[in-house]
Amino acid sequence: MLRSISLLLFLITSIIACQSPSQSKENVKVEANVEGAKSLVQQQEPLDSTQLNYVMGKFTPGQDENFIMIPDSISDKSGMYMHKQAFAAFISMYRAAKAEGITLQIRSATRNFDYQKGIWERKWTGETILSSGEDASEAFADEKERALNILKYSSMPGTSRHHWGTDIDLNNFNNSWFEAGEGLKLFNWLEAHASEYGYCRPYTAKDASRPEGYNEEKWHWSYMPLSSKLTEVAEQYLRDEMIRGFHGSSVASDIGVVRKYVLGINNSCRH
Ligand SMILES: [Zn+2]
Repeated sequence: MLRSISLLLFLITSIIACQSPSQSKENVKVEANVEGAKSLVQQQEPLDSTQLNYVMGKFTPGQDENFIMIPDSISDKSGMYMHKQAFAAFISMYRAAKAEGITLQIRSATRNFDYQKGIWERKWTGETILSSGEDASEAFADEKERALNILKYSSMPGTSRHHWGTDIDLNNFNNSWFEAGEGLKLFNWLEAHASEYGYCRPYTAKDASRPEGYNEEKWHWSYMPLSSKLTEVAEQYLRDEMIRGFHGSSVASDIGVVRKYVLGINNSCRH
């Protein structure tokens, strides 16, 4: 844990050191937010079960002082939030990418329990068609089968990394976009440099080291200095029986959503 605090402090110092003297008001605000985040993380030691409400997305980002609204200039819609510290690191990464002609765009950021419940239940009832083209309510009469098919890309409310404010979806929601042209250039840049800003990709292709969980998502990135710790909180305290309050939640334990999905991530995003 000391190692991760040191890394965090190093990153914060680096972010502040990298700012030019001609910084704008917006940059000054980011610095202040980073200072706030530093004290927040220190306060959160050690791991604590009271962090479960946060881990499960049971809060309102717009009313939480640790969160900041993302400017429209770097996102595709208004009113999205990120954890301040993850945002500060993203801004540094955004600028570095921009200097190389690459424009990162945030497509999704913090989604709390209620927001995720909306996404999940629209897929559950067939109001939203799955990316495979199926109406889950018609194609899968068995509740476990239905949940497993929605889980290919969407989290059950209470289990999403998007609850944390540390995880963002960038530029495009199709893996194929990142496999040619502009998308490939952006993806290669992130694979080479995102770790310098604390970001890693939790949903890599499934293989022996990540046999279970969501399918690969080339667009989803996570701010590790915070999210690795929240993953530890989930591992220690979050249980399948706590995942409830929405259509289909009764199959969470049968599926083992915490072990397979919350913890089914790229190992390099854990430490
Ligand atoms: Zn995502």
